Amino acid sequence: MPARLLDGTAVAHSIREELRPGVERFTTQAGRPPGLGLVLVGNNPASELYVTNKLKSAGETGLRADIERLPATASLAALLDVVGRLNRSDAHDGILVQSPLPDAMGAEAERMVFDAVSPDKDVDGLHPVNVGRLVQGRAHLVACTPSGVIELLDRSGITIAGARAVVVGRSDIVGKPMALLLLQRHATVTICHSKTRDLPSVTREADILVAALGRPAFLKPEFVKPGATVIDVGTTKVSDRATIESLFPAGHKRRDAYERRGSLVLGDVHPGVEQIAGALTPVPGGVGPLTIALLLKNTLTAAQQRAGRAG
Ligand code: NAP
Repeated sequence: MPARLLDGTAVAHSIREELRPGVERFTTQAGRPPGLGLVLVGNNPASELYVTNKLKSAGETGLRADIERLPATASLAALLDVVGRLNRSDAHDGILVQSPLPDAMGAEAERMVFDAVSPDKDVDGLHPVNVGRLVQGRAHLVACTPSGVIELLDRSGITIAGARAVVVGRSDIVGKPMALLLLQRHATVTICHSKTRDLPSVTREADILVAALGRPAFLKPEFVKPGATVIDVGTTKVSDRATIESLFPAGHKRRDAYERRGSLVLGDVHPGVEQIAGALTPVPGGVGPLTIALLLKNTLTAAQQRAGRAG
């Protein structure tokens, strides 16, 4: 039987609707809406799209969202100046610097910029103070994508406590916070990465398998225990015809979409896994929409906490 598809779009919609009363209450009490400052350096098309979606979603939910744009040639000092200004701004409760930053800024730029964001405005949950709080199980601002995955599991009736969870990927933005959140919810967690030996034997142990590698269709059916819940975080734009033809037969709706657009966004999970897994997030329409919903939730949380402190 094919896996139950976990509808991230619907869950994200519910989360945004649930935020509305809190946003309205905050706006009435503070005399201004919760504010999000987005910073975009350069004009990477994927980043442009992400930022546009975030702006739109924030506006629809009643938040204020502003975008600060810097050219790809901007210096790190200029970017840090913008972050400093947003840190001092009374109108902005959350700050998100869209990654990736241009290579010319240097290898350490992202870390320096994320560290410069005030921890109480760090709606991406990347500041060391917030990561430390997450390790201790007392974080208010946690990375949006893994928090979204937990919301999706909870709202889909999938039990986390006691489950064997395997996270493939150990990035600061997805893999590590994902593993910590699953641990906090009493899963028995294993983290895998590019040096893991015999990966399929580890992933086959998972009741909950989270794929966050950034390698399209990498996790094939033999990586998955029958009936497991598989969360596909990966999003990679693929234009190569041979890859698409090897994954989707003629007449498949995704193959048709490729024929129309010339590219597809693929997850890290092979389409064949749908026949093995018990539940599966589609790409697109799985984890992606949740990331934005959780960004808005974090912005409201940051606004409420800042207002509480000011009062
Ligand atoms: P990343 O920083 O590149 O990390 C990838 C991780 O995968 C690394 O830990 C790497 O191991 C591991 N890995 C790579 N190849 C592997 C292999 N063959 N076997 C086992 N592990 C392997 O990527 P990321 O930022 O975490 O993002 C991962 C994916 O999620 C990307 O496709 C990204 O676009 C997507 N994403 C989606 C959303 C969303 O909202 N849907 C949000 C964020 C990210 P090492 O550490 O050993 O190198």
